[in-house]
Amino acid sequence: MRTAFLGLGAIGRPMAARIANAGNPLAVWNRTSARAAELAGETGARHAKTPADAARDADVVITCLPVSRDVQNLLDGDDGLLAGLARGAILVDCTSGDPSTSRAIAARLAERGVDFLDAPVSGGVIGAEKGTLTVMVGGDAAALERARPVIDCFAGKIVHCGGVGAGDTVKAVNQAFLAIHLLSAAEGLATLVKEGVDPAKALDVINASSGRSNSSMNLIPERVLTRAFPRTFRLALLEKDIGIAAEMAKNNRVPAPVTQLTADIFRIARGELGEVADHVEIVKLIEQWAGVEIA
Ligand code: NDP
Repeated sequence: MRTAFLGLGAIGRPMAARIANAGNPLAVWNRTSARAAELAGETGARHAKTPADAARDADVVITCLPVSRDVQNLLDGDDGLLAGLARGAILVDCTSGDPSTSRAIAARLAERGVDFLDAPVSGGVIGAEKGTLTVMVGGDAAALERARPVIDCFAGKIVHCGGVGAGDTVKAVNQAFLAIHLLSAAEGLATLVKEGVDPAKALDVINASSGRSNSSMNLIPERVLTRAFPRTFRLALLEKDIGIAAEMAKNNRVPAPVTQLTADIFRIARGELGEVADHVEIVKLIEQWAGVEIA
């Protein structure tokens, strides 16, 4: 499969590396060109100078950018994706996107005979490195079958969720769960520390009980109790995700006060902690507000 990958950020880079290392001819493009040059040097991928150049001759083009609007903004102009995409090609957007923009992108591409799949991923940077990501796909089932050999390079599980935008909807709700679990775990553990309980002991109980979550089982033991707080997934991106989930609930007239409140708190956290903070650093904000450290 002739492939192209655009967006070599924290998660895009290891995904692209796996495609190249599986032996697929790959062109890579990144806004900051040095990152594409570096990956090309490491893997033998072709360093494309523009999105159009990357897409030229590719059967499958993958994008992985912060938000859907960024993908939409790459479509037009002499250097844009539409100038390079051939009829019959597939654009697989691994951005955690919003369904309405994905549908608008799909409609533009359909005019040129290009298929679009929204294919957000879950499993973090480590899952991307290991090739065990969960990929949730919206779009035409036949297009997914054609793109599957490329997606398989970084996926442990691929689920076809429905038409265009369906992958984005599932991803947004998954991310809302993550944000809610992380925030509620931080609040509960801060309270327990103030009650004089060792948080490691509390987690030992909770992780063998019904309150457990990925936050209690993995994120807090590995990143908070150790005070490591590695930067793998930006809080700004989780704030974007739960914002999509809150908007979706509103558009569908689903009362969702928990999602909405969590979205509001993450917006405040983004303002306080900035654009480069990791999502788990929201725990530091709860610690600061509570005047206690979960350690
Ligand atoms: P990063 O912030 O690490 O990287 C973003 C990438 O997009 C960089 O390559 C950046 O280029 C590029 N970029 C940013 N803005 C633009 C723009 N306007 N036009 C073109 N390129 C742009 O993000 P991640 O890799 O972490 O995330 C990418 C997507 O994957 C997001 O939607 C995120 O929600 C999702 N995701 C991330 C996970 C993770 O663990 N990190 C897990 C699951 C999903 P440059 O190098 O020039 O800055």
